[in-house]
Amino acid sequence: MSKTLPVQKNDYIDVEFEDLTHDGAGVAKVDGYPIFVQGGLPGEKANIKIIKVNKGYGIGRLIQIKEQSHFRVEIAKEDSHKYGGCQIQHISYEGQLKFKENQVRQVLTRIGKLEDVNVHPVLGMEHPWQYRNKAQVPVGEKDGKLISGFFKPRSHEIVDTNESLIQLAEVDEAIQAVKEVCRELGVKAYNEETHKGDLRHIMARYAKQTGELMVVMITRTADLPSKNKLVEEIVSRLPKVKSIIHNINSKRTNVIMGDKTKVLWGSEVIYDYIGDVKFAISALSFYQVNPDQTKVLYDKALEYAELNGDETVMDAYCGIGTISLFLAQKAKKVYGVEIVPEAIEDAKRNAELNAITNAEFAVGKAEEVIPKWYDQGIRADVLVVDPPRKGCDEALLHTIIEMKPNKVVYVSCNPATLARDLRILEDGGYKTVEVQPVDMFPQTTHCEAVAKLVLNS
Ligand code: SAH
Repeated sequence: MSKTLPVQKNDYIDVEFEDLTHDGAGVAKVDGYPIFVQGGLPGEKANIKIIKVNKGYGIGRLIQIKEQSHFRVEIAKEDSHKYGGCQIQHISYEGQLKFKENQVRQVLTRIGKLEDVNVHPVLGMEHPWQYRNKAQVPVGEKDGKLISGFFKPRSHEIVDTNESLIQLAEVDEAIQAVKEVCRELGVKAYNEETHKGDLRHIMARYAKQTGELMVVMITRTADLPSKNKLVEEIVSRLPKVKSIIHNINSKRTNVIMGDKTKVLWGSEVIYDYIGDVKFAISALSFYQVNPDQTKVLYDKALEYAELNGDETVMDAYCGIGTISLFLAQKAKKVYGVEIVPEAIEDAKRNAELNAITNAEFAVGKAEEVIPKWYDQGIRADVLVVDPPRKGCDEALLHTIIEMKPNKVVYVSCNPATLARDLRILEDGGYKTVEVQPVDMFPQTTHCEAVAKLVLNS
């Protein structure tokens, strides 16, 4: 088969990159045959080596750049670029924002078959580094020593590291301190292959507005060896710590957290503010990782909801009630639904904390709970969805089409599923008025966007 292809494995060829894939690889074409090369940028000319040929596309490795893109910048840290999730560190921030805007436009046209949607330029950060308020790192062992850091891509080998380019310094410091304490006290790292050992992951979450830190140790075993000494040392080394949690995950799985958590020390939650709203966040709850941009994102969702105080709003996938409580301040009533019970406990606590009395929360699948509300006669004027990367369940989209809220605000962390879902809503009588991408994840290929849809009259 490969005889008919324009390139062969191990060929060295000169190419010009035309495009970028959604995961940041450069695309070059030889007689129409696409070749994906990590690190290549549109407009650049380069010599590449073909390392793999498939029927429909090839993979190449960058050998030498002959003409550089003006968007190319020096890489600040090689290991973060390779393993640490900062895949587009070689693109200037201006270039990254352009890349994300194009990505949204392209999927809306290609997957969503939407023409002429008003896509705004991406709202970016002033300082697009050290923004993440959370990290969870795998723990392993090398030469008898406990290590933690990044997984090498497509492998389970851990690269030991103490700092990243995109985490808040407090998060890096917390992970490092816990790792050192565990080393000193001889805590055994979990071994995936043998399913033996104790400590699987260390997680740290820092509330930037209040300065409160949570540390979570995730173990295979129900017991955490040297527990008291561990706590004592962590508290003395991390003055900002307010909560030390033990999570138990005894399964053979890639999922990081188990269902069981115990408070080892301090509070079950830490508190943070988004704007004026205060939030309690527990270990198992989802909380946006970029606190500065979260405010930008939620303000946009609020703007798109166009509330005047008379509306009933439903917030599907509400997490700890962040968007719900933001909107409750401007709406008559908000209903939030979320699948994680702990998150709904947090959401209820958060409503109380802010003396918000017009928000109600339910545990369950959005696609099951929202139709029930509808059957009970509850009607939404505005419906907000903020689903995980796989997008909305189709049943939920059909319920929306049946319920006919005047407005839908779609917050998405995956442009491809956003485009797919917008197509279904458009076919069901909605019009996508505008889309605002917000850069929640600088240096990475991840892309967040809010879309405003109105019911066709
Ligand atoms: N809006 C929140 C949470 C968004 S993340 C915020 O901005 O903080 C998506 C949330 O959807 C997660 O909390 C996840 O637990 C929840 N979820 C996933 N599948 C769900 C489903 N089928 N029904 C309801 N919630 C779901």
